[in-house]
Amino acid sequence: MPVIGHAFAGFAIAECSGRRLGRSEQASYWPAAMVVLAYMPDIAAHAGVLGGLPHARVVTHSVLFAVLAGLLIAPWLRVWFGVPPATARVVAIFSLLLHDVLDLMQATDRHPFWPLDLPATGMDLQLIPVNSVGEAVWFAIAFCVVVAVRRIFVRRDREDSASASTNPVSPSTSRRMTRVYSACVTLVLLTVASGTHYLRQERERAFSDLNQMLKSGAFSEVLARADGVNRWPGTAKPGRVDYMVAEAYLGLGDRASAKPMLLKACAADPDYFWPLADLAVLYASSPGDRSDREALVAPVVEKLRRTFATHADLKRVCVKIDRLLGENSIPEAEPGSSTMDSSAKDDIAKDSSRH
Ligand SMILES: [Zn+2]
Repeated sequence: MPVIGHAFAGFAIAECSGRRLGRSEQASYWPAAMVVLAYMPDIAAHAGVLGGLPHARVVTHSVLFAVLAGLLIAPWLRVWFGVPPATARVVAIFSLLLHDVLDLMQATDRHPFWPLDLPATGMDLQLIPVNSVGEAVWFAIAFCVVVAVRRIFVRRDREDSASASTNPVSPSTSRRMTRVYSACVTLVLLTVASGTHYLRQERERAFSDLNQMLKSGAFSEVLARADGVNRWPGTAKPGRVDYMVAEAYLGLGDRASAKPMLLKACAADPDYFWPLADLAVLYASSPGDRSDREALVAPVVEKLRRTFATHADLKRVCVKIDRLLGENSIPEAEPGSSTMDSSAKDDIAKDSSRH
């Protein structure tokens, strides 16, 4: 997600929509209010995640959220800044939708049409640079273009402001203070956004390191570091770190500890194929009679076939489960050897992308 870019977007919207507010004290807060609006989907997402809703980011970056939240915010804009109701609604909804579009333009994985069950959008659409400097330059140029176009084509506003400047009114102390407060609010927002961005980059790096440790068989290290990777504002999708912990336990030969982690990963993201597939493999390879194992495996495989009918690895996993069920004595997994499917490893690597 473009962190600095959303601030530029807020300033650009303020530039295009705030001229008619005049020179009231409230008008000085218009740019700060637009910057808050520009960050609103992320603010709401972080609040949701901290409140125990791991999928909040999906919801707050949907078109539905933009429309509903925009309609709720519009009356506040009208009351605080005196903008016409229609303008308030257009500005609020447009700001929230623009946030989603900018995220998608930076190849951030989003579900704009939630709650419709459509695949994630934006994985390959990287039109905005990801690195901070490139992003800042891109948005600074875009902001200058918007301001230039605005000033060239909307002459009347420019003439109005020019005529106002011919009769300068020295700003009162209270108006000057209002501008200082507005600048402070914007600065605090930028600082918080940049701090959050830095922490997310750290979590992203830690997630990638965790995946490397799992691949190289450093299972105890994975268990020791997993909690730190999952901490707010983590970048991994729900259930991914739990799944890696389960695989680390399996790598250590601790099947009893792996099972609840697989169940936890399944519950965190019902659309995640691998924890459910590995749960079926775990049941199929558990000690005991074949009939007992089949009774355990049957509902899981049924769910796998129902939920992931088109998954590329479903057939291969089912063949593996059948083979394990057919074996009378299952050899214990060699502690220290990875049990994870190579396709699952590839999927985890993809999940370290921005979320
Ligand atoms: Zn966002």
